[in-house]
Amino acid sequence: MSTASRPEVDVAIVGSGPNGLAAAVILARAGLAVQVLEAQETIGGSARTLDLGLAPGIRHDLCSAVHPLALASPFFAAFDLPSRGVRAVAPEASYAQPLGREPAAIAWHDVERTAEGLGADGPAWRRILGTLARHEELVVELALSDKRSLPSGLLSPAAPGIAALFGSLIALQGSPAWNQPFGTERARALLAGVAAHAIGPLPSPALAATSALLGTIAHGTGWPIPVGGSQVIIDALVADLTAHGGSITTGRTVQTWRDVPPARAVLLDVPAPTAARILANRLPARLERSLRRFPRGNAAAKVDLVLSGPIPWRDPEVGRAGTQHLGGTRTQMAHAEAEVAAGRLPDRPLTLVSDPTVADPSRIVDGLRPVWAYAHVPAGDPTDPTERVLAQIERFAPGVRDLVVASHGIPAAEMSRHNPALLGGDIAMGQVTMRTMIARPTAAWDPFRLAETGWYLCSSATPPGPGVHGMSGLHAARRVLAREFGITQLPGLSPTD
Ligand SMILES: Cc1cc2nc3c(=O)[nH]c(=O)nc-3n(C[C@H](O)[C@H](O)[C@H](O)COP(=O)(O)OP(=O)(O)OC[C@H]3O[C@@H](n4cnc5c(N)ncnc54)[C@H](O)[C@@H]3O)c2cc1C
Repeated sequence: MSTASRPEVDVAIVGSGPNGLAAAVILARAGLAVQVLEAQETIGGSARTLDLGLAPGIRHDLCSAVHPLALASPFFAAFDLPSRGVRAVAPEASYAQPLGREPAAIAWHDVERTAEGLGADGPAWRRILGTLARHEELVVELALSDKRSLPSGLLSPAAPGIAALFGSLIALQGSPAWNQPFGTERARALLAGVAAHAIGPLPSPALAATSALLGTIAHGTGWPIPVGGSQVIIDALVADLTAHGGSITTGRTVQTWRDVPPARAVLLDVPAPTAARILANRLPARLERSLRRFPRGNAAAKVDLVLSGPIPWRDPEVGRAGTQHLGGTRTQMAHAEAEVAAGRLPDRPLTLVSDPTVADPSRIVDGLRPVWAYAHVPAGDPTDPTERVLAQIERFAPGVRDLVVASHGIPAAEMSRHNPALLGGDIAMGQVTMRTMIARPTAAWDPFRLAETGWYLCSSATPPGPGVHGMSGLHAARRVLAREFGITQLPGLSPTD
């Protein structure tokens, strides 16, 4: 026990992002008294859907919008979002890569249709991504593990072959040999666009791992968009937490450990440097230094648009996807990412776009629709991204500017005003490299446990890293239950448990 002699609650959790809430739900279901402290006035961290006042009735996904990981993750599978009334619709195309005047490359939910569109690379796409998608559960279990224990799926007969296929895709796509196994620009650009969900230089093994994971899910679960926006996932977590006696206090920024109520365990859903600040002078100097210096990733700068009609993509097939990766060819995307890595703002930044109404027409109000976009920029960049993002969309959808009714840009330097975990606009709570995905935030056997008794990190600054999957929360909660409360069995998570 670290904060006082008599605990007011069993567990305090700092931060109500998807990982903080996942941990809260598990611990409350285990019979513990849980209190969540949230700095913002609204709950959900980077999975909130808010009315930004741009147009009456239009709600915007402030950060995350498309949820391949939330639907595929073991935590959310056990939590069973559908039976809690959360409906998520996978568009017929998971993602699209517009390519100037040529037809776009499209990853359809259906792998066969994708392969047909990829010409000479169709057979390789089908063999690799089709096979991985048939074993999606295993791939996801591997990728979302705590990187410290052996996922049980690895004992299945198919596991060695699938692990080898997954590993070889990463090895090739993450290295200078990334021209293999795909020979056409279309397939290469399609996969590189997915890799760029993690911001960083291309090619790199960590970005290749991102593309292998998300590329697999694209043809399995698909890339679903929750009806009503990301907030419905958060609302389901909050409803379960409160039904099990947990509480959430908003508007409470924790600056130091003194701001946390007495508790037997404290979980921090915050970036590593914030954890170091909260526990200043209470951690061994070496650990405090490692947390403070955990390398920051480059940034996203967000743009929310209200449009009076669908984006007029030059290739209309692009509009059938839930996500567009705008960066042109693989070489152009690698150049833009290299500029960002060098601290320069590219003229044509890699930009992600999603019009949620492709899956959820209920988001259209009086003929107006929200469109979500963000551009990759250097950490802390102060530039309003709206112009650059609109120029990127216009490049592949001439005339889009005529449809803009309202817009709201957030420079990377200001992202933390909306969520203090987004330091300098870093959406991943730290760099995404192979080393930092394992040593996240340190190489310790238990990277969740901080040296101060009873204190843990449960955010995406721990394995498995960024994304709305709740798995960092689950891995941390498992350790808290066992170590602080002697409970070795996770509680059931479904509504009927
Ligand atoms: C622009 C953007 C787009 C994204 N798009 C997607 C997407 O489409 N799909 C996807 O899967 N992922 C996406 N992500 C990533 C995903 O949203 C995050 O990885 C995920 O939300 C991380 O969850 P978390 O609980 O670890 O942290 P967060 O969601 O960041 O939550 C942390 C919480 O802690 C609170 N907090 C921080 N410091 C303090 C403090 N000192 N005191 C009290 N409270 C504090 C914050 O206010 C916040 O509520 C996106 C992220 C961003 C920023």
